[in-house]
Amino acid sequence: MINIAIDGPSGGGKSTLAKKIAKELGYIYVDTGALYRSVALYMQRGGVNVQDRAAVIAALPGVAITMKHEGGTQQVYLGDEMVGDAIRTPEISQIASLISPIPEVRAFLLSLQMEIAERENVVMDGRDIGTVILPKAQVKIFLSASNQTRAMRRYKELTEKGIQTTYEEILAAMNQRDEQDRNRETAPAIAAPDAVLLDNSELDPEQTLQAALEIIRSKLG
Ligand code: C5P
Repeated sequence: MINIAIDGPSGGGKSTLAKKIAKELGYIYVDTGALYRSVALYMQRGGVNVQDRAAVIAALPGVAITMKHEGGTQQVYLGDEMVGDAIRTPEISQIASLISPIPEVRAFLLSLQMEIAERENVVMDGRDIGTVILPKAQVKIFLSASNQTRAMRRYKELTEKGIQTTYEEILAAMNQRDEQDRNRETAPAIAAPDAVLLDNSELDPEQTLQAALEIIRSKLG
């Protein structure tokens, strides 16, 4: 199977790019952030104290999480419920980043991610895909952009969804979250040594796609 790993900080455009690559190549797009976000939603709804690692770990067995891929989109289910946009709020972003350093949380989501990449050609985006989940991926891209560019993109994305926020709030929350993701002990959000770095601060989504396709062609031949 062909596996393409796309890692990088939030707001770099990973999901936009990964979806476009998947469409272009006919692969399955796997959004791993949605899995951490869904666990976060479960904890928030259950009133679990997410600052308390032991409480989060104790609640994990109750999380019944599945992924479905239809027509190029991924849906995550908690039990029978499709989580949809309920996982896209700033609060859930923050909880996801708080619980994602917990090794038990990462282990809990490991097989879900690895199994799909064994069965299908995938474009998978996340933070540790090239380093931990798919270390043998044929193509690894680490996508980033300046902090300001990333915060502005996320701000537009959220306001378009009707979520009330400000650019300053987003920038501060994003910096904090990136810091947490980068500095954690388990699976820190850093580039794999064999990843190709792509900075798209000055590129629009189509140009980013073309740059990524060039990387993919050069790796896959
Ligand atoms: O990519 P997204 O912003 O949806 O991810 C939400 C959070 O989930 C990240 O801030 C990070 O803490 C966590 N995450 C992770 N590993 C991944 C994907 C996401 O730790 N592979």
